[in-house]
Amino acid sequence: METKKRILTGIRPTGALHLGHYVGALENWVRLQESYECFFLIADYQALGDHMDDIDGIRSSVLEVTLDWLAVGLDPAKSTFEVQSYVPQHAELHMLLSMVLPLSWLQRNPTLKSEMESLESEHKTLSLGFYNYPASQVADILLPRAHLVPVGDDQLPHIEMTREVARRFNRLFAPVFPEPDALVGRVPRLVGIDGQAKMSKSLGNCIYLKDDEAEVTNKVRRMFTDPTRIHATDPGHVEGNPVFIYHDVFNKDVDEVNELKERYKAGTVGDVEVKRRLAKALNEFLEPIRARRGEYEVRMDDVKDILRDGSSRARVTAEETMNEVRDAMRLRYTE
Ligand code: ATP
Ligand code: MG
Repeated sequence: METKKRILTGIRPTGALHLGHYVGALENWVRLQESYECFFLIADYQALGDHMDDIDGIRSSVLEVTLDWLAVGLDPAKSTFEVQSYVPQHAELHMLLSMVLPLSWLQRNPTLKSEMESLESEHKTLSLGFYNYPASQVADILLPRAHLVPVGDDQLPHIEMTREVARRFNRLFAPVFPEPDALVGRVPRLVGIDGQAKMSKSLGNCIYLKDDEAEVTNKVRRMFTDPTRIHATDPGHVEGNPVFIYHDVFNKDVDEVNELKERYKAGTVGDVEVKRRLAKALNEFLEPIRARRGEYEVRMDDVKDILRDGSSRARVTAEETMNEVRDAMRLRYTE
């Protein structure tokens, strides 16, 4: 029997999931779980790096994220849902690989740099753990010896670093790890409703997968649009306009979108109408996701079992890798 290649990918439990997660990552995960052996990680250790003051939030987000995963169609019968701290081998491998990883690789990581700047602007303490999180991500990916990591494009520097660490470890010790490839989603980086470059939990510019119809409609009504347009009769800009970006991504009625674009550029349709149609398209897209979420929300014991079972399966795979790592590094003194 041909063994399936593996995927590891994950999310920090720092809030519910949003449209950016869906098009940047989750959509690929759902598709790929048919052809890969998937490990979906809830990275609670990693969340502690900048959310130490909000353990309650992390705790509730672990369950929120699991519900969102089930809602979009990730299937625990096909894939492994694991909680990072339930699989302590993640911490063990992180510690060992941090000996292999030169500090300069972290220092030059552009995603880490920009995230450190945002922490600083929020006057949050930069912990050693936060600084070290790309290294923990390296260990997360290498622990199940993943071949593919489907993520949003902000994660690419971390995947590149993972390849470099794998190569270095294999050269120094023994060929334990494959070099994983990254796979970016249909929309590498979805803009926020405020027009900022990235929809992000920490920026508060999200439409959440669990938002109800009225919330979605309200958020769309407040959405950033063409700032140069004052009257509905002014010719408007479509390129770079978040309202049209979302239409392109989420509205299945391509003819409607094209017609709206033409009329917008000609100044014959107002923002109110374009947004009304967007809210409708988004609600149609979200409706089945909300319905499935509702089915699981009333079965929280089963949801918790999914995490327990997945984590115990992940521990088995993790221990296989760790045994090879301990052999390769000759952490064997008494045998
Ligand atoms: P935070 O602000 O707390 O970092 P986040 O919204 O960036 O939260 P993460 O848990 O860091 O979410 O990201 C999980 C996955 O979703 C990653 O693969 C990330 O690249 C992807 N992702 C997050 N936001 C977007 C977005 N706006 N567009 C595309 N992909 C995204
Ligand atoms: Mg992030």
